[in-house]
Amino acid sequence: MREHAQRLNGLGTTIFAEMSALAVATNSVNLGQGFPDRDGPDSLLEDAITAIRAGANQYPPARGVPALRQAIADHQKRFYDLSYDPDTQVLVTTGATEAVAAALLAYVEPGDEVIALEPYYDSYSAGIAFAGGRRVPVTLRAPDFRLDLDELRAAVTPRTKVLLINSPHNPTGTVLTDDELRGVSEVAVEHDLIVITDEVYEHLVFDGRPHKPLASYDGMAERTVSISSAGKTFSVTGWKIGWVTGSPAIVTAVTTAKQFLTFTSGAPFQPAVAGALALGNDYFDALRADLQARRDLLCDGLADLGFGVHRPQGTYFVTTDIRPLGHTDGIDFCRMLPERTGVVAIPHQVFYDNTEAGRPLVRWAFCKQPQILQEALTRLQKL
Ligand code: PMP
Ligand code: GLN
Repeated sequence: MREHAQRLNGLGTTIFAEMSALAVATNSVNLGQGFPDRDGPDSLLEDAITAIRAGANQYPPARGVPALRQAIADHQKRFYDLSYDPDTQVLVTTGATEAVAAALLAYVEPGDEVIALEPYYDSYSAGIAFAGGRRVPVTLRAPDFRLDLDELRAAVTPRTKVLLINSPHNPTGTVLTDDELRGVSEVAVEHDLIVITDEVYEHLVFDGRPHKPLASYDGMAERTVSISSAGKTFSVTGWKIGWVTGSPAIVTAVTTAKQFLTFTSGAPFQPAVAGALALGNDYFDALRADLQARRDLLCDGLADLGFGVHRPQGTYFVTTDIRPLGHTDGIDFCRMLPERTGVVAIPHQVFYDNTEAGRPLVRWAFCKQPQILQEALTRLQKL
């Protein structure tokens, strides 16, 4: 039998699939893969059911149904005062995952360098590899996981084409500050780079911090591919409705790639997400407050157990250092944990090129019911 193509080398099975399967096999509490254990708002679910019954079951337009494109444009205006034409500057995708992949295919030539914040979300490395690009990491280092702008500047070479930014950042929970975002924008403008920014956790930012889109900085409108998704904001990670906003040229380029990946998807989910994007501020405030309380529950509990806890500013995830408990290697720790305690977590190390920086770090998801988090903490006492 012929071997598969080289571009698949090293990709294997995603850590999320591996760890979720282990959770099922060991009947563990799954704090690994980031998905909520409660559905999103009732109105959203009802709207999708209504749309199916009303016959929204055939291919929607390639760029997405008009009502959703309008709702995305309205959302960007309402929360960030950014104006987009729904017909030329908005594209609906099959989740943020497809948006990232299509953006990379649209802008990366074989041999181009893509600078990404490390640890990086797992699909980034695959997307860069599929496009034939070369991944160049800029590491967010414990304990603060801040972006070192000098390191970012030093990573730029004549081959650099794209900066791939993610804030709020998975897995560290870092929310880039105004200074960091401005620094990124200055580097991008100075070197004429495309910036792909993954902002799927835009509404999951804690402690009263704002989310500021990279596209809002000077010189960024014409070079930024902004990406978000309904999965986290409305607790429907399985619906896979994401979107891109940007200049007409950018949206056209990403659409050209996207139309031959999936063409389109999620016909009955699209009008439902359009309705949800127009929910009142009370919805978004409650989502954030609720998740912040769970963050604190899990962070406090993990600290009481002796972990070094890096309390996140956003996302679904808290990162811990396992060394205070006498462990050194996160992969070994996460493979041991389900059998020993009945809890699943994710090792950071798989998200790094500089694996040493991630070796003692483990990520836990707190987008779960408080009693589930409590149960996990009780089980972890066996450590
Ligand atoms: N980007 C980041 C940073 C994520 O954490 C996730 C997923 N959970 C995604 C993209 C994928 O989003 P989607 O499910 O909408 O494809
Ligand atoms: N984004 C989710 C996480 O970080 C996983 C999504 C997936 O399994 N691809 O946990």
